[in-house]
Amino acid sequence: MTTTPGRSTSSPLLNSGGAASSASGVVKMPRVILHIDMNSYFATVEQQANPFLRGKPVGVVATMTPNGCIIASSIEAKAKGIKTGFRIRDARAIDPRIILIPNDAAKYRTVTGGIMRILKTYTEDIELYSIDEAFLDLTGFVRSFDDADAMSEEIRHRITREVGEWLKCSIGVAPTRWLAKFASDTAPKGTTLVLHTGNLDRHLDPCRLTDAWGIAHALERRLNLLNLYSLGDLRRYPVENLLTVFGILGYELWANVNGIEFTSVQGQRLPKSIGHSHVFAKKATSLEYPKAVLAKLCEKAGRRLRALDLEAHGLWLGYGLPDRLRGWHEQRGGGGAITPPSPIVDTRDIFTAAWNILTGDLPRGALPNYLAMTLFRLRPHVDQLELWPRGKKDAPALVEALDAVNDKYGDFTVARGSFWGLNENDVPDRIGFRKTVGVDADDIILSART
Ligand SMILES: [Mg+2]
Repeated sequence: MTTTPGRSTSSPLLNSGGAASSASGVVKMPRVILHIDMNSYFATVEQQANPFLRGKPVGVVATMTPNGCIIASSIEAKAKGIKTGFRIRDARAIDPRIILIPNDAAKYRTVTGGIMRILKTYTEDIELYSIDEAFLDLTGFVRSFDDADAMSEEIRHRITREVGEWLKCSIGVAPTRWLAKFASDTAPKGTTLVLHTGNLDRHLDPCRLTDAWGIAHALERRLNLLNLYSLGDLRRYPVENLLTVFGILGYELWANVNGIEFTSVQGQRLPKSIGHSHVFAKKATSLEYPKAVLAKLCEKAGRRLRALDLEAHGLWLGYGLPDRLRGWHEQRGGGGAITPPSPIVDTRDIFTAAWNILTGDLPRGALPNYLAMTLFRLRPHVDQLELWPRGKKDAPALVEALDAVNDKYGDFTVARGSFWGLNENDVPDRIGFRKTVGVDADDIILSART
């Protein structure tokens, strides 16, 4: 769309039109963000890889046990009511013919890499939000929302042609990151929804508060107290009142639903935490097995931490215990968090801290069947000499050399003695999705670099 100097457009965002020109004749491009979300991703990738699975209810599972969770349901399984998060036994009760497939993280990363290669040809400003979601800042690359709409069709077409014909995606186009994600969440599967301030009344106002990205039930109840029940109510509520009640969060909520940018697309977003967890594939008979699993979880987290050049100022460890009455899957457990006296960087320190929490908290004689650890309060690593070094530490050069060998030849090519006796398959490559994937997304960025 072309514009003529002096065209009276008060804001390029007030309609779906495109570039607006100011009185001085300078063409102002509208800010355009595109959010792409692959539909039923892991399940669809499995159907892409194996045509026999297409058109059938498929569930990708974390572990193949009756209590194991379905981490992705195919479109066909969802149609039968089998949602992501269902336990295998519940899914089988609904449809005994559901096809269950163990998750294959390497496969999903490879497909995401293929999709990313396409997305990168449209803009350099990309934030890989999770393994199957990305934000693209198209400002300056398109002249209007209609252009972006056409581009979304092209992207969808290229993904099916160049990566796999079975892959489907929902796309949202909007002037802000938040609205773009809201649009792709709201769009019917496999389609694009374009939102701009001119059509929010139709697409956003009737929605419930919890339909909004970032509003959960606790916040919904607090908003209800202000007589706010829909996103339209929120959009029209005086922002000063929201600021008084909720502080900056109140402004963020109001800005989001009004199409005002609160955050920007961040290509190099750093994770807030790095964590790994593992449900034991076999029963522990002594503390040796949990110890080896923990060592491996700590090494994985440590390598991620160092690859991002971060240090951790907090560590959390949790464990599950088998319930003898209800089977050996975790029903209860414990754990704890510490703030170490000096920031943690190397695996030995991570492991020592985690092990101390575990052995300090574990009831006498009990053996866990589940371990989870998270490094939090992450900051850019500062290489500072300690005034009073505590305990024996690996020389940074040794840690670096170990990481370099493992980066080049694969995880655990060289490892500590405590890893010996632990089969590689005991801690299979797992992949997270949605909120936990800030970290997984970084994984992909890192592997794409090599
Ligand atoms: Mg998705």
